Amino acid sequence: MLWGDPELQWRAGPAIAHLLHPCVRCRTDKLRIRPLAYAHLPKSCLKACASLQGSGVERTTGRKERKAIRTDSSGRRVQNSILRSIPEGEYNLLREYLEPTDLPAQHILHEAGARIDFAYFLNDGMASLVVLTSDGRSVEVAIVGKEGIVGTPLVVGLSRGPHRAVMQIVGSGLRIKSADLMEVLDSAPEMRLIWNRYVLVQGLQVAQIAACNRLHDIEQRLARWLLMCQDRIGSETLLVTHEFLAQMLGTGRPSVSLAAGILQGYALIENIRGTITILNRPGLENAACECYFAMKHFNGGSGAQ
Ligand SMILES: [Zn+2]
Repeated sequence: MLWGDPELQWRAGPAIAHLLHPCVRCRTDKLRIRPLAYAHLPKSCLKACASLQGSGVERTTGRKERKAIRTDSSGRRVQNSILRSIPEGEYNLLREYLEPTDLPAQHILHEAGARIDFAYFLNDGMASLVVLTSDGRSVEVAIVGKEGIVGTPLVVGLSRGPHRAVMQIVGSGLRIKSADLMEVLDSAPEMRLIWNRYVLVQGLQVAQIAACNRLHDIEQRLARWLLMCQDRIGSETLLVTHEFLAQMLGTGRPSVSLAAGILQGYALIENIRGTITILNRPGLENAACECYFAMKHFNGGSGAQ
């Protein structure tokens, strides 16, 4: 799970823990193993875990596994973690209102200060929450992928928010009209609780990124951003320009170019004409500031994978 509360995290049962023991990743991170999320584990772990598919994972509360395989009204599989984590009955209340939608890069999902018409559950791609200043500058204060919701003010009953939400990496998802969302939430207390927790975690992310932008070096922040992005889109190749990164990190383009050059000099990334490829993820984790791990921690440890 992605929003930090131990009650919402899955615990490997004793037999599973025993089988996973040889894996370094599992030994240090047993509570975060999820049966449908082996893709992010190293090959040695995949081999050890192969026989565990479908063998069951118990919840810390003893309740049944909830990260179900779900489909939308068009029959497409839902990848959004929040939608896959709410109870089946409450998801069924929501399902008829969810509208599949393609989300191109630079598409604005809602504008700062304007009425929010839809909430979005991303299946893939990545959105940013951005603060805009009166002189035309901007800085990213939160990232949302398939682990979250765009339109969190709606969840807590607000019709407007202070940030622009914009797609940064092309993707797709499901959207729901704000009025429908409010109506369903009134009948779905557990869904409301889970979403409220996500809203809190997103607030923590905003605070951490604000501190990061103020306190940490640009190469640390760039490494942190690349890791967060890779967690959400599941690819080591990111189509991003220095101009774009400068806007996201609240700095100038020359600073981004310098930082990218430093990371490339250590063979952590390859940067060629609008494309950054992560070559050495462990090395990039070492280069990132503590903020990356702080956000992973309160996200429940698994980032957005
Ligand atoms: Zn930082």
